[in-house]
Amino acid sequence: MQKVKPKKALGQHFLTDLSVASRIASTLDAYKGVPVLEIGPGMGVLTRFLIDGGHDVKVVEIDDESVDYLKVNFPELDGRIIEGDFLKMDLASVMGADKFCVIGNYPYNISSQIFFKVLEYRDSIPCCSGMLQREVAERLAAGPGSKVYGILSVLLQAWYDVEYLFTVDENVFNPPPKVKSGVIRCTRNGVTDLGCDERLFKLIVKTSFGQRRKTLRNSLRGILPAGIELDDDAVWKERPEQLSVADFISLTNKIAAMRGASAATE
Ligand code: SAH
Repeated sequence: MQKVKPKKALGQHFLTDLSVASRIASTLDAYKGVPVLEIGPGMGVLTRFLIDGGHDVKVVEIDDESVDYLKVNFPELDGRIIEGDFLKMDLASVMGADKFCVIGNYPYNISSQIFFKVLEYRDSIPCCSGMLQREVAERLAAGPGSKVYGILSVLLQAWYDVEYLFTVDENVFNPPPKVKSGVIRCTRNGVTDLGCDERLFKLIVKTSFGQRRKTLRNSLRGILPAGIELDDDAVWKERPEQLSVADFISLTNKIAAMRGASAATE
């Protein structure tokens, strides 16, 4: 059967180096026995190593032509190919109540959205690994003080330990992407309760990084109760990139208390 012709709109860059595919598959070696959902298998270069490695694999692929290719070349995936858009998929109905891992050489145009979706299902997903553009991979793994530390770094690291594993060169893809790629692994960290109001935490992270050059005193003004005097905590003079996940949690509790006190006096 003919190979699939890469389509730019679907973020298709097919991996051609089998040793890289094998290394990506081995990021889930510790999870044999846990079902795996692969996003965007394309022609199955990574799928082959997952199946041969003994994993129980399902795949979700949006491209009809790739789906046809997989049906012909991977008879063992019979009934395990989900045709459609991962971002629109109801994961609970497809994967059932059991826990599962997520892996892929992801479509780079939607890589951040994929990780936001994984976060929504964090209690079902003990591990999520795979390849994405290096810049985003570095951002997800970055800690405080790094220029690339941002919203998704904090939100993801609140629930997952994120490791940047290795960098992959452009020339092992067809067609080569414009940027280098990075492989990461996110392992659920055991936190079941953040210890603060999660909605307020997300709002604070998003709002402060939305104006990352401003001090928190300025960027968070709209979230703080009107007319409130700030205490002399040094945190107000900091910028979001200086705060760890734990610092954001304390800040959330501080702001929640300020809001509570202000509501009580109204
Ligand atoms: N894993 C393959 C293909 C990587 S390219 C390899 O390593 O060679 C990214 C793949 O994701 C393509 O096959 C593309 O069709 C698929 N894809 C893109 N958007 C998707 C979406 N929203 N849901 C599921 N698959 C998607």
